Amino acid sequence: MAHESAVANAGPDWAVMVSNVTKRFDERTVLGELNLNIAAGEFVVLLGRSGSGKSTLLRLLGSLDDDVSGTIRVPRRRAIVFQDARMMPWLTVLSNVTLGHPQTADVRRRALSTLTEVGLEKHAHAWPRTLSGGEAQRAALARAMAREPQLLLLDEPFGALDALTRIRMHTLLRDVYMRHRPAVLLVTHDVDEAIVLADRIVVLTEGSISFNENVNIQKPRHRADRMFLALRRRLLFELGVNEEQ
Ligand code: ADP
Ligand code: MG
Repeated sequence: MAHESAVANAGPDWAVMVSNVTKRFDERTVLGELNLNIAAGEFVVLLGRSGSGKSTLLRLLGSLDDDVSGTIRVPRRRAIVFQDARMMPWLTVLSNVTLGHPQTADVRRRALSTLTEVGLEKHAHAWPRTLSGGEAQRAALARAMAREPQLLLLDEPFGALDALTRIRMHTLLRDVYMRHRPAVLLVTHDVDEAIVLADRIVVLTEGSISFNENVNIQKPRHRADRMFLALRRRLLFELGVNEEQ
């Protein structure tokens, strides 16, 4: 009964414990007897080709889906950021951040503080439609962090941004993470993004984990670095991408 265990705390050392999780859509197995633990405060990047089951796993960890066999343990405070910011257009940026919280002075103060962290304090009273794509994703990150999550789930959060904005978002996310230290599971299909950000990289191939390794490259990581390039090559191979093509 994954539904009941989904709200149980994973304990002080583990933020996520996924044991023997199998997820089927009709007759199709999308995740097959999956096992994955994430330590408290660990930054894990989940890589995989399109359709490999990444979002399915993320939705399970976010309790957006509970029709599954096996056991999933996650902390009580979780937050998810998607590729699109999903702001309510009729609410100001600040009200979007405080949405779902009791409207107390303390909540507003915390929301303003997270907006400041992502550099959006001047936009707190603006409408979401006035934000650029990068600003909207920063607002979505602020909204997630205002929940003070023990587990932050990110599903291709920078996938729709241009390359330069994406690089800036990597630095921002890393800074926010270092300050708050939630466990993070970031889904991406961008190998460079994975290597820049991850403590550990997990590759999902057709619903099974085919690669699971710590990244032992000193930070900040540079794309031209020899170890960066070597890991990049291995991951592209793992994903079935032939660089010579
Ligand atoms: P990824 O995020 O890695 O691209 P997904 O987790 O979204 O992959 O999907 C994995 C597989 O599960 C895909 O083949 C997709 O078509 C299928 N799938 C996802 N959601 C549903 C659903 N609600 N109903 C049926 N099939 C689904
Ligand atoms: Mg997906």
